[in-house]
Amino acid sequence: MNFKDKIRVIPDFPSPGIRFKDITTLLKDGPAFRAAIEQFKDFAVERNADIIAGPESRGFLLAAPMAYAMEAGFVPIRKPGKLPHETISQDYSLEYGKDSLEIHTDAIQPGQRVIIADDLLATGGTIGSTIQLVEKLGGIVVGVCFLIELTYLNGREKIEGYDVFSLIQY
Ligand code: IMP
Repeated sequence: MNFKDKIRVIPDFPSPGIRFKDITTLLKDGPAFRAAIEQFKDFAVERNADIIAGPESRGFLLAAPMAYAMEAGFVPIRKPGKLPHETISQDYSLEYGKDSLEIHTDAIQPGQRVIIADDLLATGGTIGSTIQLVEKLGGIVVGVCFLIELTYLNGREKIEGYDVFSLIQY
């Protein structure tokens, strides 16, 4: 399967100079979506994951079907104010300014093996704070996976030492 052919690149979105990688063209292709999730699931099964965590919102689209396919638990990591129970939060820096992510304090038990899935690795800010949230709860991050990795932004440097899998590279 040539997964790269399934990605649509949109010039100048959401702002001039950005070449946005649109994954909706892969998601709406049944065999491609399934083949991508199968590869992620195999990665997670090999690492004996108990929990698949995904950051809002495109991470949900990957983490939830992975968890279902291997009968692991799914844990959402969300933007501030969305989760109803007690949470912890983690700030991270964006190109301009700051953002924050939250997780329920009882979402992960100490020692549970966690895989994190997201659509795209750019600078690594999002995945970095997601990893910190999981580890604050005592979870063991046994792998992280992405549909797309923008290798020229060197996001991997922020997550050195972790087991990283990406399906498509630019
Ligand atoms: P990072 O935190 O710089 O690694 O950026 C990764 C986050 O930005 C991911 O959660 C993506 O959803 C989002 N993102 C950045 N660039 C793109 C893109 O070209 N297409 C889709 N999402 C993107």
